[in-house]
Amino acid sequence: MTRTKTIETSSLVGQEVLIKAWVQARRNMGKIVFLDLRDRFGILQVVAVPSELDAESAELLKDIRSEFVLAITGVVQARGAKQINKDMPTGGVELLAKKIEILSSAETPPFEIDNEERQANEELRLKYRYLDLRHARLQTNIILRHKVINFLRSELYKQDFLEIETPYISKSTPEGARDFLVPSRNYPGKFYALPQSPQQYKQMLMVAGFDKYCQIVRCFRDEDQRGDRQAEFTQLDIEQSFVKQEDILVLTEKLIIDLIREILPNKKIQQTPFPRISFPEAMSKYNSDKPDLRKNKNDPNELAFAWVVDFPMFEYKEGDKRWGVVHHPFTAFDPNKIMAVEKGDLKDIKALQYDLILNGSEVAGGSIRTHDPEVLKKVFKALGHSDKEIQSQFGHLMEAFKYGVPPHGGIAFGLDRLLMILVGEQSIKEVIAFPKTTDNRDPLMDSPSEISKEQLDELKLKKV
Ligand code: ASP
Repeated sequence: MTRTKTIETSSLVGQEVLIKAWVQARRNMGKIVFLDLRDRFGILQVVAVPSELDAESAELLKDIRSEFVLAITGVVQARGAKQINKDMPTGGVELLAKKIEILSSAETPPFEIDNEERQANEELRLKYRYLDLRHARLQTNIILRHKVINFLRSELYKQDFLEIETPYISKSTPEGARDFLVPSRNYPGKFYALPQSPQQYKQMLMVAGFDKYCQIVRCFRDEDQRGDRQAEFTQLDIEQSFVKQEDILVLTEKLIIDLIREILPNKKIQQTPFPRISFPEAMSKYNSDKPDLRKNKNDPNELAFAWVVDFPMFEYKEGDKRWGVVHHPFTAFDPNKIMAVEKGDLKDIKALQYDLILNGSEVAGGSIRTHDPEVLKKVFKALGHSDKEIQSQFGHLMEAFKYGVPPHGGIAFGLDRLLMILVGEQSIKEVIAFPKTTDNRDPLMDSPSEISKEQLDELKLKKV
């Protein structure tokens, strides 16, 4: 007999089914035992009456406790009018158990699964993340994450975007954050870096002729964590050839509107087309480049998207006492200002950069790119890089641009952050299956952890 999902029982009254699921709760009512069985589709009430069970099952029933994994064969029956539970999708039926098999017993979990109100602290939740993930809220979040990714992928595929994987073991990329480094065994003293984003690879894919690229991709930035940041996070990364800023804005705006209509129909987008604010206007009006534009901040279903455009290309970093880029150095800027860049006059140069903001957070950012290698070189020089540094850090990209590079641009969505806002969570940890603690540890696997002397020796690394 094949396994039936709990949710399917509503339409199977009178039929014999086999359910395989976890025990969410057990209630003893004299001789009758009620079990709430849970699978990822929902909860089903099981009625176990010793007289209906075979002798072996009746014996096993005595031992069954929360979180046991059971296989129960029984008959689906309609509940009496008074017993109908309108809040449960399977609330109109119950399963009259005939045969019970214990597939796995379970110790008492370190926190309750059916009552998330009495929630454990973060350390305990992450140490037992596989149990934490059993909570209905997290199940819903993770399933929604899958649906969102599935929608985005299939929409982009329909529009001829190719999903192409780019390396994780790579080279340091200048996206403004600290790199995660990976020591090389074959080349002692040299290091790979985990990419802060696939920025340069996706641009080289444009040179290769893959004119529409997308990827659901992990990015790594060795930063201290906050509620909406993790050291590794997921982007929906997009790049396209022969496009203008307007094309990218229109493409991604439609993608997001369609996504919300299809997957989260109870959410209300405050304004479409998304309003556009220039960076100077945002700063003067709201003193922020990601203002929360919701008219009604108490409504959890209100989504106030807006594009922020006309960013400056360069900004003076007071802390470092030098000029830096607002987005990244590959961003194109006002072509009338090439001479100014050459002279190092970096104030008030408009970049072809755009951010998508939602309820006070930045959820996507991108730009049209500089594809002239000579102009790119001027940017690197203006940022204070020597010829040698330019060659060693960006030589590959400038070389690639010598062989016929299409004009191109793109954008990347911070998928975890977008999801966090869409489901109304306060932290991206609630939409990631296995996140790290705020201080960058994984209590489940106990990482980071020591490595053996042999491993260190092999890498020619010494502890100091
Ligand atoms: N690579 C950029 C980022 O991660 C996004 C982009 O310009 O496409 O922010």
